[in-house]
Amino acid sequence: MRRKAKAGGVILATLIAGVVAPCSSHGSAAEARSGGEAPSASEILLTEDGQTRHAIVIARDASMPARFAADELQKYVLQISGARLPILAKGDEDPAICVTENGALDAGLIDRLRPELSGRGEDGYLVRTEGNQILLLGNSPRATLYAVYHFLEAHLGCAWCAPGDDTVPREKTIRVPPIDDRVGPPALGMRQIILYPYGGEWLQQNNLPHTDWLAKNRFNWAHPAPNGPYSWERNKSRETLVPEVEKRGLYLEVGGHTFNTWLPPDRYADEHPEYYALLEDGTRATAKDHKGGLCLSHPQVAKEVAANIIAWLHENPEVDAVDLWHNDSRTYCRCPNCAPRTAEEDDGRLAYTRMYIRFTNQVAALVARRHPNVLINFLAYAHTTDCPPGAEPLADNVLVGLCLFPRPSQRTMRPLETSPQRLDAHLRREIPAWRKLAKHFYIYEYYTFSPRQKVWSMVSMMSADVPYLVESAVDGISSDQWGPGWYPLNMYAFGKLTWNPELTPQEIIDDFCAKYYGRAAPPMARYWSTLEEGLRESWSTDRPIDWRDQKRAELIKQALSEADSQAIGDRIRAAAALHGLSLEP
Ligand SMILES: [Zn+2]
Repeated sequence: MRRKAKAGGVILATLIAGVVAPCSSHGSAAEARSGGEAPSASEILLTEDGQTRHAIVIARDASMPARFAADELQKYVLQISGARLPILAKGDEDPAICVTENGALDAGLIDRLRPELSGRGEDGYLVRTEGNQILLLGNSPRATLYAVYHFLEAHLGCAWCAPGDDTVPREKTIRVPPIDDRVGPPALGMRQIILYPYGGEWLQQNNLPHTDWLAKNRFNWAHPAPNGPYSWERNKSRETLVPEVEKRGLYLEVGGHTFNTWLPPDRYADEHPEYYALLEDGTRATAKDHKGGLCLSHPQVAKEVAANIIAWLHENPEVDAVDLWHNDSRTYCRCPNCAPRTAEEDDGRLAYTRMYIRFTNQVAALVARRHPNVLINFLAYAHTTDCPPGAEPLADNVLVGLCLFPRPSQRTMRPLETSPQRLDAHLRREIPAWRKLAKHFYIYEYYTFSPRQKVWSMVSMMSADVPYLVESAVDGISSDQWGPGWYPLNMYAFGKLTWNPELTPQEIIDDFCAKYYGRAAPPMARYWSTLEEGLRESWSTDRPIDWRDQKRAELIKQALSEADSQAIGDRIRAAAALHGLSLEP
């Protein structure tokens, strides 16, 4: 895969199909300890009573994500202990961070440890203590940032359970025990959550905290979705959002439903109505909203779309993938070239999907001449879900997504592999068909759908689906998210499973609750497990999910009585509110 190097020049065979490698060599559950006793010989006294003798050392020419990683380490150690670790630019190797006493750097240390990251992919990293030093080393600048978040989470007690709602302990003295954690490669090369809506108040409220949360949970793609023309520019995205993506070294995909973005009706429809989809009533689909559509067989349409994408990429050189998705409706062109009707294809959808593939390849070929490292994202979705027999393969610079739509509308959410529901059986057949046509292939799912749209706790389903999709040789999974409103457990579980699909629902729930609910973790773990039991029961009994309201209400009351703080009480009440649970007697 031709990929643009992110800031550090360390690149990278990414999106490797079928890589199944659990995060390995996590150290024992070593926790930083606090207290007054003298450190043992193998412990590092990182801070003592709010003071420190250590410094963070980065390369003199450190990349933006490596510098940001050092800033994040400094920020959270300060929040935990009150001690500010100075950041010194005196190392030679980017991306690496050494935490050393008085900034005294063992120059050979990175050379000795770098080979241990061999075979762990661009997202692989290690966290190692060596003498009185802590080394945080990634195979890319982004992975060094991952190493910092891993260290803070696994060893200093921080947690990133919900956007904008970090867990940060308070300990003036931080003792770091011996650590030898080597992590990666993740099971999925592409780990993404697409976030709607975009712009206006949502930019500050949703997109920025979401981007921060993605990196902390070791996702590697940010995917804002303006979903229409001019919104990206109107919201000054290069000034507001793009720097936040870039300093974390994330890949950036932009778009959503973009036929109108790349060929806006207000610019073209008056002069060239023939560029737009021919509707069944004989008119052209020139609406500015999602009811619009394009005539994909018109030879000038691919050229104009490609020219507009090229011009836009010139203005947005940070972008790694652009979306070429049809508008979010079932509108498609009924002209004889786009959708010829045949005996076996009665409404022309398969023929139209063939044309969508050809059109995407035409656009991709033109864009590749000027932007060879940018991927064009084709989305098999709604009326283009089915892979047409005999379709041409997608070009190497096309990223193909298969949207498992409309799974959230089903009676219940069952594991894809074993679900008897007709839609799931249908979608199972489409996965290998699209896989064969695409060099880069991902699944578009709804695991992180907004609680306003869907209220399932889906950890059990995800923990069945992700291994199945990895076995199906998909390169990644992107999950749909509609802010406002987070569903933190589903988000957290999705992130963890894309790294390690072997985690069980109970392991994920226990881990999440320990980090998010403090002393109230045991009743909250039972709360979430109760929901998951109800969900799993519905798979085998074919009855609607049993929400077990009374039991859950009791658990919430117990948890509230044990909450350490007002903030944790708010988290507990938010869990009840997600499911409309009344706490009145
Ligand atoms: Zn047409």
